[in-house]
Amino acid sequence: MAKLYFKYGAMGSSKSAQALITKFNYEEKGMSVWLIKPGTDTRDGADIIKSRIGLSQRAQVIGPDESIIKAYEEAGNYDVIIADEAQFMSPEQIDELRTLVDDEDLPVLCFGLRTDFRTRFFPGSRRLMEIADSITEIKTICECGRKATVNARFDDSGRVITEGDQVVLGGNDRYTAMCFRCWKERIKSQD
Ligand SMILES: [Zn+2]
Repeated sequence: MAKLYFKYGAMGSSKSAQALITKFNYEEKGMSVWLIKPGTDTRDGADIIKSRIGLSQRAQVIGPDESIIKAYEEAGNYDVIIADEAQFMSPEQIDELRTLVDDEDLPVLCFGLRTDFRTRFFPGSRRLMEIADSITEIKTICECGRKATVNARFDDSGRVITEGDQVVLGGNDRYTAMCFRCWKERIKSQD
């Protein structure tokens, strides 16, 4: 039986690299992979999944209101679906991936962030936590050595931001994965 997988990690935990390596591994066994990512913007190159270690691949971009099932039927026959940045998919799109797992017996592997810069779930991640068969954490560390769980957002002056929209397109904000304790202490030190 095929499964729905959610492999989550903080910023910089090499999720995209893992997604691309997983695709390579399936293809090496002769299986075809439909690589997708949600489309949150239309910038040039928005259809590229790029990892910091240098791997990159073109993916099919799924729009915010697009049906994944319909897009899959139009894309053709694949053996596996791999989705990067799955946190940006809508709960309805995650439900559609679940339907493809169950009705088409297709393994679906979703890579993404668990939470935003305020430590709150992204809607897509919440739905994956609710209905995935397999949930695994891709770990990365804070500069103090503890496991990083918070995706801290910084402004240009290096202050941690704790208010604002969940997704800011084209913003100049920077993100760093931190442990909860360092994140809290950093915010306290800004007072
Ligand atoms: Zn820390």
